[in-house]
Amino acid sequence: MKTLERTLAIIKPDAVARQATGDIISMIEKKGFRIIGAKMLHITKPQAEGFYAVHAGKAFFDSLTDFMASGPILVMALEKDNAIKEWRELMGATNPANAAEGTIRKKWASSIEKNAVHGSDAEDTARFELSYYFAGYELAK
Ligand code: GDP
Repeated sequence: MKTLERTLAIIKPDAVARQATGDIISMIEKKGFRIIGAKMLHITKPQAEGFYAVHAGKAFFDSLTDFMASGPILVMALEKDNAIKEWRELMGATNPANAAEGTIRKKWASSIEKNAVHGSDAEDTARFELSYYFAGYELAK
C-alpha cells in the first residue's frame, strides 16, 4: 500500500565536509523524493543530545553527539509515498561494511559512526524529528 509520508533526512558533518552534499541531494531527487524543507545548521552538543535522546546511555552516545556537533549539517524534510522506508533503503545499512551497492552509505560513509546520512526509522520518530528542526510554516505545500 502507498501512503504519502514525510521523513527527516540529515547530511551529517562528515559528508558535508567531504563536499558530498550535491551528490547526495541528486541521489535523493533521482529517487523521486520531494524536498519540502532544507536548512544548513551547526548544532550544539546539547542540541545533538536532545535529538538522539533515544540513544542516551549507549556506549557510542558521547562520541555520536560530539560528531554531530562537530561541523555543519544539512537537515531536510522529504516527502514521497512510503518515504520513511524508501529513504532508509536509499541510505543503506548503518555500518557501511554492510551497505548495499547503490546506497548513499556504500558510496560516502567512512565508518559505523561517520556514516554520511540520517533518516527517521518510524512514523512516530519522523514526527518528532521533523518538529525538532522545522516549524510547520517552514515546509513547502
Ligand atoms: P541509523 O538509524 O542507521 O542511523 O542507526 P542507529 O539509530 O542505530 O544509530 C544512530 C547513529 O549512531 C548511527 O547512524 C551512527 O552514526 C551511530 N552509531 C550507531 N551504532 C554505532 C556504533 O556501534 N558505534 C558508533 N561509534 N556509532 C554508532
